[in-house]
Amino acid sequence: MTELTIIIGGGLAGVTSFYELTARGLPCLLIEAEADVARGTSFANGGGLHPSLPDPWNNPGIGRHLFASLFQRDAPMKLHPAQIPQLAGWGMAFLRQSTRKNYDAITLANFDLAEYSTRQTEALQQFLNLDYDSAAPGTLKLLRSQAERDEALRLADMLAAKGLRYEAFSRADMLAREPSLAEAQNVVGAVRFPDDGIGDARRFCEGVAAVAQKKGGEMRLNTKVDSLLVEGGAVVGVRLGEEAIRGRVVLAAGVAASNLVRPLGLRLPIRPAKGYSLTLEAGHVLDQCPHHLLVDPMQHIAITPLGQRLRILGMVEFVGHDRRVEPRRLSQLRGFFEALLPDLAQKLDWDGAQGWAGLRPMSADGRPFIGASPIDGLWLNCGHGHLGWTMAVGSARILADTLTGKSPEIDAAAFSPDARRRRLR
Ligand SMILES: Cc1cc2nc3c(=O)[nH]c(=O)nc-3n(C[C@H](O)[C@H](O)[C@H](O)COP(=O)(O)OP(=O)(O)OC[C@H]3O[C@@H](n4cnc5c(N)ncnc54)[C@H](O)[C@@H]3O)c2cc1C
Repeated sequence: MTELTIIIGGGLAGVTSFYELTARGLPCLLIEAEADVARGTSFANGGGLHPSLPDPWNNPGIGRHLFASLFQRDAPMKLHPAQIPQLAGWGMAFLRQSTRKNYDAITLANFDLAEYSTRQTEALQQFLNLDYDSAAPGTLKLLRSQAERDEALRLADMLAAKGLRYEAFSRADMLAREPSLAEAQNVVGAVRFPDDGIGDARRFCEGVAAVAQKKGGEMRLNTKVDSLLVEGGAVVGVRLGEEAIRGRVVLAAGVAASNLVRPLGLRLPIRPAKGYSLTLEAGHVLDQCPHHLLVDPMQHIAITPLGQRLRILGMVEFVGHDRRVEPRRLSQLRGFFEALLPDLAQKLDWDGAQGWAGLRPMSADGRPFIGASPIDGLWLNCGHGHLGWTMAVGSARILADTLTGKSPEIDAAAFSPDARRRRLR
């Protein structure tokens, strides 16, 4: 009989792995601690499927920004002083990777996966006929200075060699394509990426999990894996209180992944990077809403049109596993929206807006871990940071390919835990 595959975590990484493995005829059990799938970081994320933004956040110069953020309460990327001891090892690796050479290499590798994954997400949407407010309006990266334009075009040119399509816009060009920005302050132009998509990740996860169950996959919700079951140095299952379930394990537990493998001597450099979103009903003003995904890379804030809703999202805070929603941060998101789209802002019901905070599972080198771990019986699909929706379907396909002994459809060596073995043990 084929061995059971146990997937820990029902977010984007776990649910897509569950679907891919079940669709290939493997018996699968997905275990999720919450009452439904996508109740962690995949609940109310930005909705952007954006291969155009594959660059890791440890860009050259990040050390200076993080140091300055210690003294700025509302910095877009904020390091909280109390976190410095907990982040010590991970933080050093994060900074070490922030040379121009590493940054460019990881950007290129992430682009391959993000582009592959976005194409596979579209194919899956058509194959399964899923409804999750998906659309393909493209992204507008907003520029506020010549320096921002230079860096945006440097990245776009580098990725164009791999197939990224883009158009550089003056302010007038931008307004011709996105008239909703007519009142936007201090925006000098934009770069448009026509191939980016959007979609509601939570609805996608719910739809895909339901299909996987119809194909025979089993799901246990409200069930927490306490530890991994280890025999003879290999992972042979999971432990839930007194109960043990045997099978090979796929770890897709988001920010909880590191703690689950620590007792096994595996150091998985994934730490939480907190972000916020604010979702508003916009069905009554759809004709005035932006139709692009709008991204401000310096503020780490974006606005996504999601069906009848608008979502504003952003911020990066290193505050450990604290998921509390800070009203101050939501006010910042609102302030950003009001400066960019002042007329539209007046027509929205801010009292009815849904605030949310989630923890991005951020790897120290800005790329996910996909494939066999250094421990027999344990497979990884985690650490996707700010790109977990963009990369979900592609990552799950790579995981399923490697787990079933097939070659992945793209070169996935950069994401292989094996290739980073020395740093894991
Ligand atoms: C504000 C914000 C905006 C974002 N916007 C975008 C975007 O526009 N585009 C994009 O590509 N990405 C975006 N992201 C990133 C993306 O949302 C994440 O990378 C992705 O959700 C991570 O998915 P995951 O499955 O790894 O983790 P999660 O969704 O957190 O899933 C992990 C699951 O594991 C479960 N779990 C943990 N431990 C256990 C255990 N012991 N037993 C059982 N279950 C367990 C948890 O309950 C959780 O449900 C955004 C993130 C944030 C915070």
